[in-house]
Amino acid sequence: MEKPILGLDLGGTKIASGLVDLRSGGLLGKGLLTRKTFDPDRDVDIFGSLVAAIHETLSSNDMQMADIGGIGLCVPSPVDPKTGFLYNPPNLRGWANIPLREKLQNECGVAIGVDNDANAAALAETRWGAARGLSRSVFYATISTGIGTGIIINGAILHGKNGLAGEGGHVPLDGFGREKCGCGNIGCIEALASGTAIVKLARQLLQSRSGHSLLWDMAQGNMDTIDMVMIGEAAKQSDSFAQEMIATQGMRLGLWLGGMVAVFDPEMVVIGGGCANLGEPLFRAIRQTMIQRTIHPKADEIPIVPAQLGAASGVIGAASLL
Ligand SMILES: [Zn+2]
Repeated sequence: MEKPILGLDLGGTKIASGLVDLRSGGLLGKGLLTRKTFDPDRDVDIFGSLVAAIHETLSSNDMQMADIGGIGLCVPSPVDPKTGFLYNPPNLRGWANIPLREKLQNECGVAIGVDNDANAAALAETRWGAARGLSRSVFYATISTGIGTGIIINGAILHGKNGLAGEGGHVPLDGFGREKCGCGNIGCIEALASGTAIVKLARQLLQSRSGHSLLWDMAQGNMDTIDMVMIGEAAKQSDSFAQEMIATQGMRLGLWLGGMVAVFDPEMVVIGGGCANLGEPLFRAIRQTMIQRTIHPKADEIPIVPAQLGAASGVIGAASLL
């Protein structure tokens, strides 16, 4: 029997892991394990946390290093998949320029694969999720606190020269505006249409205009408690302000995707991340603008669908790197 692969998904504050059967793309044994282990703003040992997560995953599944076929790791950072060199993760302060694959290989003594987290999720969704059966060209975007993208061309992740391709979330849509992005640039689509950006916009508008929104009641006067889940809930209850926020997010994403489909001519656009839970109101707004605002003459034929693998997509995708 083929040995399972240990998949690891390093996030901003937690590490998800699991043993993956590469024939089915399914999780084995204990399934998806999550450790909330570190505070990225403090100087903590992220590498040590990764190694601890590896050993914990093995022991909770009654396995040893020799029982697995290797370890796949995905990280929230630009990374060179050939060398496993981690560049500059925007959300893991002080943790940059690390020869991650080499370090893990020395520590564990098994084959190691490393890639960016959105790239790994794109690969997982194409092999086993929403885009399974397709492979020529799939565009994957995860819309949550940030926006990450992964592009699959001919069954493989599009890496470019240095492994740095596919940073679609940092394409500026308004380079002359005021919205500063976490990457240091101005007006990236992430700074305009991520969950964080829309929540910020909603808070600003609520504070500056009179009129009623359910969000006032739901937040009980504390604007800081407003998040995308709350906006989605208010929209479901026919709150026009919340609906307007989702339409704005969809319009901005649609404009951006109009450009992306003109560049990549995908067979499918897959949307993951927390904002995909907003469902059809968001997807409808995206489709409408994307079709109107692109040179792609067949944009109306490109399905835009929600991702299927949920929280496990990073772990399954990381394992698929081997
Ligand atoms: Zn950016």
